[in-house]
Amino acid sequence: MKVHGPYKRQDGRQIVIVVEDDGSKRTISYPKWLLELQLGRRLDPDLETVDHIDSNFENNSLENLRIMPRNEHSREDTRRVKHVKFNCAWCQKEFERSPRLIRDKARKNKAGPFCSRTCAGKYSRKLQLKLIDKFDSQPVIDSEYYKKKYVKAFCTIISSDLLIDFLCDVWDE
Ligand SMILES: [Zn+2]
Repeated sequence: MKVHGPYKRQDGRQIVIVVEDDGSKRTISYPKWLLELQLGRRLDPDLETVDHIDSNFENNSLENLRIMPRNEHSREDTRRVKHVKFNCAWCQKEFERSPRLIRDKARKNKAGPFCSRTCAGKYSRKLQLKLIDKFDSQPVIDSEYYKKKYVKAFCTIISSDLLIDFLCDVWDE
């Protein structure tokens, strides 16, 4: 058995890959692996989840990691919102943004969306000078989430002289 990594996924999250003797591979979250090493025990996958204190999931220093009870609320928080493509109301350029940000502005009846502060600024200056009419307020868009499927698996990790068997969450991708 070997542990490879940590590797960075495209979304910035770090993982380690555990290769069993029979060649089967398992992927687990690097911060979780670190915490379990530190605690010397397994996290209960039904009750415990790893939380990044500063909300930056790329910051896997041990001081930034803590165990949180796994409940519906924390599950909501850890879901990643899919970015949605918009066309800038000013320059028509296509850009991606979290629908949450756009939605907040739409609720305030703001015009847009704009790809940048520059475009928003150009719009509001022309509006102030009454060179243009007010644009329609932007549409309210619901969030879509990536589906992260957790599978329970038995994992073995080896770190120098430490060997731990534990039940872990595996991202099935
Ligand atoms: Zn623009």
